[in-house]
This record gives sequence, structure tokens and C-alpha cells, in this order.
Amino acid sequence: MIYLDYSSTTPVLPEVLDSFNKVTSEYFGNSNSLHSLGIKSKELLDSAINQVSELLNIDKDTITFTSGATESNNIALIGTCLANKDKGNHIIVSKLEHPSIYGICDYLTTIGFKVSYVNNTQEGVIDFEDLKKKITKDTILVSICMVNSETGVRQPLRTIRQVMNKCKSGIILHSDITQALGKIPVNFNDFDLASASGHKIHAPLGIGLFYKSKKVKVNSLLYGSTNSFHPGTYPLPLIVSFSKALRISLHELEKKQEIVEKWSEKLLKNFSKFENIKINHPKYSIPHIINISLMNIKPETFIHALEKHEIYISSNTACSSGKLSTSVMALYNDKKRAETTLRISISPLTKLEEITVFINAFNGIYEKLSELND
Ligand code: PMP
Repeated sequence: MIYLDYSSTTPVLPEVLDSFNKVTSEYFGNSNSLHSLGIKSKELLDSAINQVSELLNIDKDTITFTSGATESNNIALIGTCLANKDKGNHIIVSKLEHPSIYGICDYLTTIGFKVSYVNNTQEGVIDFEDLKKKITKDTILVSICMVNSETGVRQPLRTIRQVMNKCKSGIILHSDITQALGKIPVNFNDFDLASASGHKIHAPLGIGLFYKSKKVKVNSLLYGSTNSFHPGTYPLPLIVSFSKALRISLHELEKKQEIVEKWSEKLLKNFSKFENIKINHPKYSIPHIINISLMNIKPETFIHALEKHEIYISSNTACSSGKLSTSVMALYNDKKRAETTLRISISPLTKLEEITVFINAFNGIYEKLSELND
């Protein structure tokens, strides 16, 4: 099997799974219980939180474990709007967000908030002039995805924040860092709020991170016996797995980036040989995500043909597969290009042999399907 769909989800690393199993069987005490089993679990919980805080260089009080990035995005956007509605009712998001953000925005408009969608350049970067124009006295929040899940385009968050501050101080900046964490360095001083997901960094499904700087006010969307954005009993096996997966993914990050860069160059070189293939990989895209448009071939046909070789890739983001790629549309404003996308997402675990086998299979299928379409 050749798995090239790491941006959809990642396999749980064996050592992470070992931790998950060990914590499940040996640390089953509720970390809120007063007896020794509870204390043992609480100590492990504290050490996992400390590890995440050290790895990300953030205060441990800024960390909430959630069920995933979708939940974190909900807390970030809805919770911020509810907590700051006395200051205004306007938010701005980019056209390169994950579909979950657009679902949340649709909901916010039903409860009285206004949403503006800031333009980007053809290189995918937020159009600063458009951002300035869209900020009003009522703007309370800007949400910009750090790395776009479909094309890998990376945003200059620090500059975006400077642009925002020049127009109006006090606007909260949220970033969905799900496709950035564990792939590229992330500086948590560049934003006030962030969302991330464990299953993109080889942790199990069902665990995510919500980061909230102490400077900003966000309402909880859930209430319970504990005062937290995600109340209830801590899912200790998931939290420990997340901290372990994070530590492993951040280890020798630069070296891993170099490996991915090498495979990315090989793939791009191959795709550029074909006249009818458009490469949706602007210069600010991270190497881990490569998006192409086949123009004359349906992506699902291609994906199923590759599957026969046990090779797995995506059309666009897994959460909107089968639909037009909103990100490619936002970049090139070309419907055909946006309807025929394939996303190949690679990891430092990817081997040269896998890239070679993929390229051969891809080229064979492409030539065959192109002939059929002539
Ligand atoms: N944001 C981005 C940028 C993503 O890529 C994804 C996953 N496709 C999500 C949010 C949703 O993450 P989760 O599955 O953890 O809810």
C-alpha cells in the first residue's frame, strides 16, 4: 500500500498506540478522583499538559484538549463572537478556510453576526488592501487558516496581524493551524486563538487542541461540573497520545521538512511534463501538500484507478470530497480547474520507492485515461 493522503488523516504511530493502550489499561482512574488511582492519573495528565506546553512554548493554562479541530474552530469563532458582542458583530475570514469554518460562519449569520470574506492574491496570500477595506469599527475577529488544507498555501500571520492592528486595535486573530502543526514551525505569538487536530500528527482520532491566549475573552459553548471549554472527564489515553505524537512530529522538524521537500520537487517535476495538468502549488505552498488539476479527467475516475494499485490520494479536502475545490477556485477563479483537482499529501515517512512507484502508476493511468478522452 502507498498512502499519500496524510493531510486527510495519518496512521497512528506504533509507539503512540502503545502509549494509548498502556494508559487505557493502567491509568483508568478518573483524574478528578481523590484516591491513589485518581492521583496517578492526575500526575500523568499534568505531565502530558506540561509536555505540550513546553513543546509549543505556550503557557499550560492556554491549552484545552477538544475532540478535534472542528470543535476547536467552533469554540474559537462562536465563543469569541458571544464573549465580545458588546464590541461589535462583524468577523472576517479568508476564502482559503477549511469547510468547518464556513459552516460555523453560516450559523453565526443566523444569530446576528456579519461575516466578510477577504480576498487573496493569485499566489494565495491574503490581499492586505482588501483586508484593510473590510475591517470596520464593528470587527471583533479575523480567522485565517495558517496552511490551506487543499493547496498547502501558507499565510504570513504576523504581517496580517500588523495590518489588522493598523486599522483597529483589539481585533482577535484566530488561526486554524491543523495543517501546519507538526509540519512547519508555528509561533503561537502570531495569533490569539488556534485550532489543531491530533489525527493529522499520528495521534488517534478524537483529540484536538484549542489554544487561547490569556489576553482574550472567549465564552464556553459547553457547561458542566468543571469550568473548561471542554468539560467532563479528561480522556487521558487520548491526551497522552497527543502529547507523544506531538513530541515525535516536532523532533528534527527541519530534517523532516528537507525530506518532504525532496519528494515534493520530484512530484512537481513529473506533473509539469504534462501540458494538460495545471499545478495548483503557488510559491507559498508548503511541500507536504501538492494539488494538481487534471482538466480533462474526472478526479474520482483517477482516484479509483490508482486504488487498484493500492495507492491512496484525495480529490480535494477529505471533508468536501466530490465537490468543487473552493481553495483552487479562490486562487484561480477557474471552475474546470477547481472541479478536477487531485491532492497528493506526503509525509517524512514517505519513502523514495513509494514516490517512484506512484509516479510510474500515475503516468501510466494518466496517459491511458487521456487517450480515452481524446
Ligand atoms: N481544519 C483543517 C485545516 C483541516 O485540514 C481539518 C481536517 N481535514 C479540520 C480543520 C477538521 O479537523 P477534525 O477532523 O479534527 O475535526
